[in-house]
Amino acid sequence: MATTATCAVVGGGISGIAAAHFLRDAGLHVELIEQHRSPGGRITTATLDGDRIDLGGKNIGRHYRRFRKLAHALGPFAFEPFGINTSRIRDGKIVTLDSTRRLGSTLAYLRGCPAADALRLAELCARVWLDARNRFLDGPSFARLARDADDSPLASHFSPAFCRAVVRAMSVRMNGAEPDEIHLGNFGTHLGMWLDTYDQLEAGMGAFIGAATAPLEVRFNARVERLMVRHGRISGLQVRQSDGRTDHLEYDHVVLATPAGVSADLLREHDAALAAALDEIRYFPVLVVVAAYRRPIFSANVRGLSFGPDNALSNAGAYGIDRLDRVRYTFSGRKARAVIASARSAGSLAGPEAEALLDLAEATLRQYVPVERADRRDVVAHLFDPGLCAYAPHHYRLRAWLDDRRHGIDGLAFAGDYLRGASIEACMFSAQEAAVRIAQSRLSHDLRASRGIDYGYHASS
Ligand SMILES: Cc1cc2nc3c(=O)[nH]c(=O)nc-3n(C[C@H](O)[C@H](O)[C@H](O)COP(=O)(O)OP(=O)(O)OC[C@H]3O[C@@H](n4cnc5c(N)ncnc54)[C@H](O)[C@@H]3O)c2cc1C
Repeated sequence: MATTATCAVVGGGISGIAAAHFLRDAGLHVELIEQHRSPGGRITTATLDGDRIDLGGKNIGRHYRRFRKLAHALGPFAFEPFGINTSRIRDGKIVTLDSTRRLGSTLAYLRGCPAADALRLAELCARVWLDARNRFLDGPSFARLARDADDSPLASHFSPAFCRAVVRAMSVRMNGAEPDEIHLGNFGTHLGMWLDTYDQLEAGMGAFIGAATAPLEVRFNARVERLMVRHGRISGLQVRQSDGRTDHLEYDHVVLATPAGVSADLLREHDAALAAALDEIRYFPVLVVVAAYRRPIFSANVRGLSFGPDNALSNAGAYGIDRLDRVRYTFSGRKARAVIASARSAGSLAGPEAEALLDLAEATLRQYVPVERADRRDVVAHLFDPGLCAYAPHHYRLRAWLDDRRHGIDGLAFAGDYLRGASIEACMFSAQEAAVRIAQSRLSHDLRASRGIDYGYHASS
């Protein structure tokens, strides 16, 4: 290459950070642009009782190949097993789903569900086991299913008992959604995550995000307001700085690694139809409250409890295998949305607001596990909005749009939780695909340039 192409990656979450690394490895000069003063996006941390703790994404599956490879390259980062250990109440008794005793605990969960649903689940799991592409959105088998099944929600394909016992545990946790708000064509992502075994970073995700952004050029406090396009090709970005100043920055390539709604807004003036397709992607808010206690609240056998659709609290779990005195409470799902709306209107979630949310959470947990106000040492709360991505029916149509060159803006690519799935690994997969797309666009530009064809756009040296 005669010049080093410049590429802006918009969004300093895991999708953007991963895209920046893949693009740097491909030889591009990359700048990461983040609207806030620190990176991580929905992988975020807070201080609780004097320690840094993770509030957002933190569980890393054994199948998270891309994440583990990057962590290894940036490390050393030690992993500690976390596993899925979540219990629920049935007939007054605690039933535990434990990923270390998967078969036995799954059968216990399935008790009382129609056999046809269990067989259907086994058949769908087989699709994921047999072809790893089905762990991600638009995997071949689930994209085919979507064509027939996605006109109605997933809840209509299974019995209510099965949805309540099995599907909801996944949809609320992975999408902040109810079974009637997700679709069969996207269910491979849920099963892929459900069938995985999880670890977490001993040093926490904050340490990983710090190490991953250290070698990158990052502009913080810079909000991208417009894509600049000339002759059908990216020419730069309009960026609002924290002091209110607006800059026009020139780039050869741009990756939008932002949630679908943000990408839609930036795209709208250039491609209203694709923006409308991105508007169809649904997100649901998630409110997380983490409390430190003076004594263990959970036990080694029961490390978490999930609650049914009648509760605003969807789940309460020990923060780590050895941190049974720290509890992470999650409000998500339909019933939680009123609580979340009033938390949002309160503005701040510090001090008394966090304590009030903890009162609410403890009142639900206390019905099954003893926990008292006097046990508390500290509390933090955080609202994720957008929280978790729940995708859209017929998701393969979005991919067809994105792959259709007639709708493409040359030099522009997309990464994010709405493309391959909401897991950290799926975000990294989308980032890798965006980097490949940019590298291909760069190659075709170089070919044209070598033939002396001037397409009238900037390439900085
Ligand atoms: C509570 C919670 C728990 C989770 N737990 C797990 C888990 O254990 N394991 C797992 O695999 N996944 C988990 N996830 C999912 C996973 O963390 C997310 O899907 C992932 O972090 C999303 O990353 P992203 O980079 O696509 O988006 P984001 O993290 O949202 O990053 C987008 C970034 O873009 C920035 N931005 C937006 N607009 C602009 C603009 N105009 N200009 C500049 N910057 C902009 C934002 O500030 C943000 O930093 C969890 C998610 C949540 C919310």
